[in-house]
Amino acid sequence: MATITYPNLMEIDFGAIKVLGDALKRNGITRPLICTDKGIVAAGIFDTVRGVLPNDVEPTLFDGTPANPTEVAVRQALKLYRENDCDGIVAIGGGSSMDLGKGVALLSTHDGPINDWSAVNGGRDKIGGCPPIIAMPTTSGTGSEVGGGAVIITEDGQKVVIGSPNLLPKMAICDPELTLGLPKHLTAATGMDAMAHCIEAYCTHVVNPPLAAIGLDGLERVVTYLKRAVDDGQDREARWHMMMAASEGAMAFGKGLGAVHSMSHAIGADEEMRLHHGTLNAVILPTVLRFNANDVGDKYARLRRAMGLEEGADIATWIEGYNATLGLPNGLGEMGVTEAMFHDLSIHCMTDACHFANPRTPTVPEYEQMFADAL
Ligand SMILES: [Zn+2]
Repeated sequence: MATITYPNLMEIDFGAIKVLGDALKRNGITRPLICTDKGIVAAGIFDTVRGVLPNDVEPTLFDGTPANPTEVAVRQALKLYRENDCDGIVAIGGGSSMDLGKGVALLSTHDGPINDWSAVNGGRDKIGGCPPIIAMPTTSGTGSEVGGGAVIITEDGQKVVIGSPNLLPKMAICDPELTLGLPKHLTAATGMDAMAHCIEAYCTHVVNPPLAAIGLDGLERVVTYLKRAVDDGQDREARWHMMMAASEGAMAFGKGLGAVHSMSHAIGADEEMRLHHGTLNAVILPTVLRFNANDVGDKYARLRRAMGLEEGADIATWIEGYNATLGLPNGLGEMGVTEAMFHDLSIHCMTDACHFANPRTPTVPEYEQMFADAL
């Protein structure tokens, strides 16, 4: 088992789930709120986790996490947290369950609407102590297990980012066994989210060579193993490396993200469309790579090396082909996005936290053009 201590304590390997009891004890948690979704319960993963809990631990289950976590769901979970006098959170699932868990941790000690604590409203400096979170990812994409950030749809329909070192999980238990049953389309979509994190973080202007190197390493793993994990979900080696790549992607985005994410957050805020964050990123990534091409110095040369591409190869074109081999859509139009939506989406992008880190700062008309290009 690999034990990693940056940025939090992380245990990654098949069988890592067995350290959960120890993790709870170490963090003084005896009455955890388990934040997850109905799919995880139906897949038997909740039962597997319950099976490794010590006898003196009394879990409370919240399985109502929506596909994109909402403030409404956070408040439902918070009610359970308070009614059962919980003293910590175990988040089991994809990014949604982990982000929801962070929302509950925040609101258990902070009053008012989530937007008051959002990154753009200075939340990072205002957020104080929160109960401990243990994160157990069941997908390989978001990397939320090694990050102190969460994306939550507020009651007025905004997709806001909250982030604080106090929301960083005390421990990430990364057991690739929990990802073996992940269906092909979700393996592909979440894996491309990890790729988007590695590439976008690497390309920001923030100077942080260790994080840049982690992003390049994660990218190499995605390119080497994602197709294998999609083709054969039981490929244990591929699943291990994808789990590592997902955590690396999130470590790297300590350098910030960019327009791929501001655009996917804008579209993803539409609760009726319910579009998958990773699928959106996969489809948008080539367009933003072309938009940024003249503002990234020699970074694309290093991306090509990490990806094993020939010198001068067009990364955007390569990703379009890769999306196709993974069975992902080839444009936003295929996903139901229409031209009539471009203007409002572009306005939304301008206030997204990720907008500010993109190496070339887009204007509203430039966002509209990128939505058109990605259609
Ligand atoms: Zn993402």
